[in-house]
Amino acid sequence: MSEKTPPLSCKSPVTALPGVGARRAETLAKLGIFDIEGLLRHYPARYEDRRRPVPVSALADGEKALVHVRVLDVKKPPAAARGGKAPRIPMKVACCDESGRLTLVFFTSRWLLHTFHEGDSLWVYGTAHRDMAGVSMAHPDFEKAAAGDGGGAGGMGKAGVGIVPVYPLTAGVTQRYLRGLLRAALPAAERAEDILPQGLVAERRLAPASFALVNIHFPADEHALNAARYRLVYEELFLLQARLLYARGHAGGQEEGEPTCMAGVFAEDAAGLFGFELTGAQRRAIEEVRSDMAAPAPMRRLLQGDVGSGKTAVAASAAFFAVKSGFQTAIMAPTEILAAQHLSEFERFFAGTGIRAAMLASGLPQAEKDETKAGLEDGSIHVAIGTHALLEPDVAFARLGLVVTDEQHRFGVRQRLSLREKGASPDTLVMTATPIPRTLALMLYADLDVSALDEMPPGRKAVTTRFIDSSKRDAAYGFAEKQMAAGRQVYVVAHKIGDGEDRDEDAGDDGFSGGGEAGGFDGGGEAPLPLKTASALGLAEELSALFPHRKVGVLHGRMKGGQKEETMRAFADGSIDLLVSTVVIEVGVNVPNATMMIVEGAERFGLAQLHQLRGRVGRGAAKSYCVLISDSKAEIARKRGETLARENDGFRIAELDLVLRGPGDLFGVRQHGLPMLRIADPAKHMEILCIANEDAKKILQSDPGFVAGLEGFPE
Ligand code: ADP
Ligand code: MG
Repeated sequence: MSEKTPPLSCKSPVTALPGVGARRAETLAKLGIFDIEGLLRHYPARYEDRRRPVPVSALADGEKALVHVRVLDVKKPPAAARGGKAPRIPMKVACCDESGRLTLVFFTSRWLLHTFHEGDSLWVYGTAHRDMAGVSMAHPDFEKAAAGDGGGAGGMGKAGVGIVPVYPLTAGVTQRYLRGLLRAALPAAERAEDILPQGLVAERRLAPASFALVNIHFPADEHALNAARYRLVYEELFLLQARLLYARGHAGGQEEGEPTCMAGVFAEDAAGLFGFELTGAQRRAIEEVRSDMAAPAPMRRLLQGDVGSGKTAVAASAAFFAVKSGFQTAIMAPTEILAAQHLSEFERFFAGTGIRAAMLASGLPQAEKDETKAGLEDGSIHVAIGTHALLEPDVAFARLGLVVTDEQHRFGVRQRLSLREKGASPDTLVMTATPIPRTLALMLYADLDVSALDEMPPGRKAVTTRFIDSSKRDAAYGFAEKQMAAGRQVYVVAHKIGDGEDRDEDAGDDGFSGGGEAGGFDGGGEAPLPLKTASALGLAEELSALFPHRKVGVLHGRMKGGQKEETMRAFADGSIDLLVSTVVIEVGVNVPNATMMIVEGAERFGLAQLHQLRGRVGRGAAKSYCVLISDSKAEIARKRGETLARENDGFRIAELDLVLRGPGDLFGVRQHGLPMLRIADPAKHMEILCIANEDAKKILQSDPGFVAGLEGFPE
């Protein structure tokens, strides 16, 4: 058909296709389709299996099915009813097969009027409607079966039967139209060049690009579809991993560096710092860290462990190795509360070792900050623990050898890198208390090796969790009173600080754990829920009145650093019984006597974040409780509640979180500067992702030029 035109290639503009002019091109641009390659990579969202026709007599009301019928009679509406306004009269095409009669109903498009003729043989796919008048299908897909040329009056070619692609659409583009375009683009697909290194294609037994690009649209059968899909998922993940690794400085072999743990410093030496026996997981992680630090290449390690799994001891051990070997350590925490808590723990661990630690945060008195900065610059302070204040340009280190970031997901990659620039290729240890699934770890931290604390210190008990609506709220607070009467303490969590505010505290700075997405809970990006849920300040007032004999405190992000710490200390030493708080308590805070948490407006929080919050209780010997209160009718709210009530393992919850959020929401990955994925779904394609990560690392070693030549790097 198109023998005379120049051969279509992936680089051709869409206007090279027959019937695509400037206006159509504009519509396609809305789908992100500009050239033939873009069209071919507009992958189907799903497929319809239209291979097995059903006898008309077997058509079930409301179900989609394929039938093979013959046209008996065409009833066109009278010309007067065609163009104008109501009443509209449909065109009816009477058909039959051996088993019965079927009427096709079309509200006229002009081109349809001359499409059907008595005796035509048709494939028809649509939703059957059964009533007293018989069986009908309104606006079905159809294709002339016997005519042979398929291109007839607006026919859709062979695209209508078989495994049929169903595409994401935009206004002005129909399935039929896109299928036709893709049919026409197939010659370019068949000539597509393979972007993957040939060695990889062979080694991983991948389908060639040309095969994949044809069969992802019009697969011959399931096997072909699976092979095509596997290849394209792999390709997408491999290229993403290669670009990530390259952008983060992994190209061209190992970075220069020097060992930050000298020979003669042993893991055993650190083990004596703690007042407890390390868990097996902690020992393993500490040894992994030590051996990374003993090697000249800079360590890049992610330490993930559920809330309370004891990451601090691993960080302290790493700092110990560095300081014993003549290097300083910087530890960055997301909040002042957490930094202060780390400092007091580190001071306890390092007592008697001569190691000096100090804190740096914007809320501290200027004189104190100046003194700490001077100490870091002359090397007399060995360990700096702080917040973003550590990143300020006037903070300099005499010999920074190790950078630890706690709760990494709160910092951007760029911040992590910028702290690293304060030393000469220092080691990096990233700790996250949101146990992220390995899939996501590979997406966000492609460049990091992973250690996992998958074992809890002894004596930790599961927190009994209930998910209720506000009709049972009184009972929850009645139970809270019982806890307080027994000398225990209670957290109440609210999602906002004051009434009349519509902004969730901390929203936006945290794409992963839920703060950022809390507002869009009921279906991403829609208007926020009506804000009936109480604020921290409102709740504090209500609960002070409800429990006049108890001391009620309040904690939120707009308090000054000093005030926050004071409140936290008062809660820790037991002089506050009930602490109403926003998510500022989410990370790290440790008060073992707190045995109950009530989360108001639980639908406002992400699953991983709720698990984090819950981790604040169950830290002592006593049985602990978590009550999630929500009146949301949203399905996902209920699922999150049920998941938390059932699961206690953070890793498992993180995996489920990924599944619940679904691939559509790439769970804030986009906020981390990663490109959108077209076909890969990290939650589903974990295995392929792991393989792609390995392969990308290999290619970067053997052929860095390959990756340097790729376009489209993420930040
Ligand atoms: P996270 O991983 O959440 O940062 P932490 O390091 O804060 O956990 O540890 C939680 C609590 O458990 C702390 O009170 C810590 O002292 C204690 N802890 C850590 N490791 C052990 C252990 N091996 N045995 C007993 N207690 C431990
Ligand atoms: Mg911690």
